[in-house]
Amino acid sequence: MERSVDVVVVGAGVAGLVTARDLNRDGIDVLVLEARDRVGGRVLNAELPDGAPIEVGGQWVGPGQDRVLGLIRELGLRTYPTYTAGRHIAEFAGATSRYTGRIPRLNPLALADIAQAQWRLDRMARKVAAREPWLAEPAGQLDSQTFATWLRRNAYTPAGRSFLRLITQAVFSAEPEDMSALWAGFYIGAAGGVDALINVAGGAQQDRVVGGSQRIAAALAAELGDRVVLDAPVTDVTWGDTGVRVRAGDLIVRARHAVVAVPPTLAARLRYHPGLPADRDQLVQRMPMGRVIKVNVVYDEPFWRGHGLSGQANSDRRPLGTVFDNTPQGGSPGVLVGFFEGRHADTAARLSPADRRDLVLADLAGYFGPEARQPIAYLERDWAEEEYSRGCYGAFATPSTLTRFGPALRAPIGPLHWAGTETATRWAGYIDGAVESGRRAAREVVHART
Ligand SMILES: Cc1cc2nc3c(=O)[nH]c(=O)nc-3n(C[C@H](O)[C@H](O)[C@H](O)COP(=O)(O)OP(=O)(O)OC[C@H]3O[C@@H](n4cnc5c(N)ncnc54)[C@H](O)[C@@H]3O)c2cc1C
Repeated sequence: MERSVDVVVVGAGVAGLVTARDLNRDGIDVLVLEARDRVGGRVLNAELPDGAPIEVGGQWVGPGQDRVLGLIRELGLRTYPTYTAGRHIAEFAGATSRYTGRIPRLNPLALADIAQAQWRLDRMARKVAAREPWLAEPAGQLDSQTFATWLRRNAYTPAGRSFLRLITQAVFSAEPEDMSALWAGFYIGAAGGVDALINVAGGAQQDRVVGGSQRIAAALAAELGDRVVLDAPVTDVTWGDTGVRVRAGDLIVRARHAVVAVPPTLAARLRYHPGLPADRDQLVQRMPMGRVIKVNVVYDEPFWRGHGLSGQANSDRRPLGTVFDNTPQGGSPGVLVGFFEGRHADTAARLSPADRRDLVLADLAGYFGPEARQPIAYLERDWAEEEYSRGCYGAFATPSTLTRFGPALRAPIGPLHWAGTETATRWAGYIDGAVESGRRAAREVVHART
């Protein structure tokens, strides 16, 4: 089967759908090819036992994420606040603290070290939070080291180092040893600083979408109607001066332009004819995905609330290092969401499903007491196992990648354009970044046509 359109978009995640919606609104004939049997990519709703939706992929939005918040409003969707009342639990460097507000009760030396390390990290991030971080003044020095090296030089106590490792796992679902310090600084700066990334109230975890975040993608796709083709995994992209020819199984789509809206590592798995310029290929060889297993554990009621706990817990000694209350807006059933991130995801993934569930329940019982061992349902999703994600929350750059090949991240190649949250300049890795990238790619195509 052959079709001809003005623009073909590869991937119906938020980035690809926003690209297509903007182009469609400009009267440009667009077709989206999506590999899966659903839209949304890394945002995905599942069902609680009562049929209510629950997010098993990306879910929170927060202040400063103006693009996604604007889109949510435009689509007629609403948000509600994440539950935060009560005391949070923090386990760091051998001590346990139950606390309210932002700062766990740790020993003063540890707190001082965390504060100074965060201050330095925010200062470093501000310096490189640019559209082109590889051009920032300290780029060369930062890109020649891993984030782990940077952290060792800037945090001095075990608690300080532990805290920053936990932040790295929670924010990047990777280890500090994996990534370039420049990438870490860029990513943190692109979100407006460490607090913006890790806080619930006032930060990236502040709000949830009523009905689940996949409704954003579903609403975009509904506007596009039959311009979105599901079950169409693209394998081949033939490109040249006159346009592109994209193959997805039996379907061949010819277009003037293509927007590839998939994470870098998946863009690298497409076959290009002719092959892409070496800079672009070298870049995508060096941007792996993080690794996360997200679990939602469902209880009759949010029992922890009755004990004065918020459901928020962090630990540097438990594999399930980050937990939040994920109870739906109505307050029932009770849901705790937990994350195995970075190296914890590696080890948890190698367990049998039954052993992994036992590990989750043991950690939740450690945080919230024995009632946590009696769930009514258990949902887990290992994003690294997903053929069309191969990891989450997003990609990161290894050392020397941005300074050597950064410009190839967004630069169009002939009729080929690149979208996806990893190409964003603000909130890269987030739904908001996906929206930015889609808008930018659509503008680029419109501009290229005039
Ligand atoms: C567990 C988890 C928790 C997260 N938490 C948050 C959060 O709380 N807040 C937040 O803002 N972000 C969060 N994120 C990140 C957020 O979900 C992503 O940044 C965002 O959804 C990325 O959108 P995208 O369109 O750039 O990429 P994707 O969603 O990855 O879209 C790419 C699309 O391309 C398709 N595709 C891939 N290969 C092909 C091919 N060959 N042919 C055709 N189609 C293809 C995929 O199926 C997919 O639909 C989380 C992600 C995960 C997984």
